[in-house]
Amino acid sequence: MTVPTLTLNDGHTIPQLGFGVFKVDPAETERIVTDALEVGYRHIDTAAVYGNEEGVGRAIAASGIARDELFVTTKLWNADQGTQSAYDALATSLDKLGLDQVDLYLIHWPRPDLDRYAQSWRALEQLRDRGLTRSIGVSNFHRSHLERILAESDTVPAVDQIELHPAFAQRELRAFTEPLGIRTEAWGPLGQGKYDLFGEQAIADAAAAHGVTPAQVVIRWHLQQDIIVFPKSNSRARLAENFDVFGFELSAAEMAAIDGLDRGHRVGSDPDLAT
Ligand code: NAD
Repeated sequence: MTVPTLTLNDGHTIPQLGFGVFKVDPAETERIVTDALEVGYRHIDTAAVYGNEEGVGRAIAASGIARDELFVTTKLWNADQGTQSAYDALATSLDKLGLDQVDLYLIHWPRPDLDRYAQSWRALEQLRDRGLTRSIGVSNFHRSHLERILAESDTVPAVDQIELHPAFAQRELRAFTEPLGIRTEAWGPLGQGKYDLFGEQAIADAAAAHGVTPAQVVIRWHLQQDIIVFPKSNSRARLAENFDVFGFELSAAEMAAIDGLDRGHRVGSDPDLAT
């Protein structure tokens, strides 16, 4: 199965479907990422704060998959925002991952209270220029945070990785970012299991119509909007299920019905308030 790729605003490409490892136990990460790579995933989304970069690195090394066939993202944690601290943080992440370069490095949260995200963004530009990351982007940035870094740097972020699922579709933010060439990555694409997304009629109906699972319908809903998505699961069966989403297509009416579930329902932290 070939996962479609999307082109980022710096010309590099990214597999649109990947595997995220938030809350994957560090002791289990190597096994679970190995499962993901065997199932066919080639895009792994981790972060320094997840504490499992070493397990990701071990799975990659053991897989024998060529480095240029893999897409690896990690993220700068809040405590490391700054200039030298950001340089040191990526060096540590690369060491743990056993890589010379990541494909994408993100500022994990803006943390406006720290007032260091613009400085951190300029540090990420340097890290890209030194070849330690191919692309750079942000996560959990609102329009105001993006406007500030656009004004104070030379680089438009390649992506903004934001909470996004049918009940929290982020239309207003995406109407700002996507015309600027900033790709949307969805975190919590399945709502992190925190509300009864799979019990929604629009999703159940589409699943029945196509003979697929509700999770597969939700992943398709993301993919058909050019959103980059990396659902997480510890189970190999669900990893395989979530990867098996290229044999059907939601109709415009099905997409519209799922769009209708948006009610501004956030399951995670508000980036303006997160500390
Ligand atoms: P998710 O929406 O992917 O939900 C994961 C939950 O869904 C788990 O409880 C899992 O058991 C369940 N699930 C997965 N597949 C299923 C299936 N086929 N059927 C039924 N249930 C299924 O939430 P997430 O893990 O928070 O988000 C995905 C990734 O996004 C993370 O692993 C991480 O890489 C990234 N993320 C980033 C941030 C950020 O601040 N940038 C925050 C959270 C997550």
